[in-house]
Order: sequence, then structure tokens, then C-alpha cells
Amino acid sequence: MHFFVRTPLLRPVLLRSSFSKRTMSTHNHLSDDCIFCKIIKGNIPSMKLVETDKTFSFMDIDPLSEGHMLVIPKYHAEFFHQVPDEYLADALPVAKKIAAAAKLDQYNVLQNNGKLANQAVPHVHFHVIPKPNEETGLGVRWKPIKPSQDALKAKYEEVKGNL
Ligand code: 5GP
Ligand code: ZN
Repeated sequence: MHFFVRTPLLRPVLLRSSFSKRTMSTHNHLSDDCIFCKIIKGNIPSMKLVETDKTFSFMDIDPLSEGHMLVIPKYHAEFFHQVPDEYLADALPVAKKIAAAAKLDQYNVLQNNGKLANQAVPHVHFHVIPKPNEETGLGVRWKPIKPSQDALKAKYEEVKGNL
């Protein structure tokens, strides 16, 4: 008698708790007021490419060239160095997969950090940008600063000392 009464009560409780855990683990590293977090949650539509449990990829809405794609970790962080290793380890194979699927010949994989470095959306993202010709795609200004050997070595020692 006891058995029959308790079983139906227990089952809904167990189902509810496992469902809420799953929801938490999917979204608990996302921010409520970030455009890319909203894309991950499906609150803002996107042209989704590959999705894994840690990564989301989609077409850039304002492409620099035809086939410009984005790869984002499902972890809200503004800067690259703030993203846990497991999310970074998952993201690059996704970038590789979509670059291969788009059959890109020449292209740039770009990741900007901070406004000065051209970052507009403060959620870490990797661009995959086709470079079909000189005019289209990413333009890079590459102006070496030509430091002295001493300055080069001083910076090297500083970084190495912090590792
Ligand atoms: P960032 O300058 O931050 O490195 O690049 C941000 C990129 O996100 C830009 O290329 C921009 O076009 C893209 N972007 C911004 N908002 C949206 C959006 O709502 N949907 C999509 N698909 N791309 C976006
Ligand atoms: Zn975010």
C-alpha cells in the first residue's frame, strides 16, 4: 500500500530536479544582457552552423567578405585569457570544421580583445574571414616597431617571469 502511494509522488520530483540541472548547466555561464549570449540561448535569431555543448558558430550579420563566420564559446567572457581552457579547446576544431565546409582557400582567423583592438562585442569570438582578393576580407596594417635587442629581452624576461 505504501509503495503504490509513494511512487507516483516521487517520480515527478525526480524528473523536475534533473530537468532544472540540465537547464542550469547549459546557461549558467551566460550573461543576460549580452547579444552573443542571447544568440546562444536562441533569444536572438542567427544562421547557426555548428553547435556543441561548449561552442556555437553562425554567420556574421555584417560580413567583411562572402562567408564571414563567427565561433563563440558558450561562456560569457570579454577577453580571450578569461575563457576556461575546455571552452577554447572546443572552439578551434569548430572553426576548422566550418572553414573546411566553406571550402575556403585563403582566409584569416581573427580574435579581437578590447576596443583599441577592434572588439565591438564584449563576448569572446573568433572570426573566420575569407580573403578572396586584395580588396575584400580583412585588411591588416602590419608596422613592426623595431625594438632594440635590450628592449626585446626585457619584455621576454618580464613575460617569462610571470609564467
Ligand atoms: P568584433 O568587432 O567585436 O570583433 O566583431 C563583432 C562581429 O559580430 C562583427 O563582425 C559583427 O558584424 C558581428 N555581429 C554583431 N552583432 C551581430 C548579430 O546580432 N548577429 C550576427 N550574426 N553577427 C553580429
Ligand atoms: Zn556573452
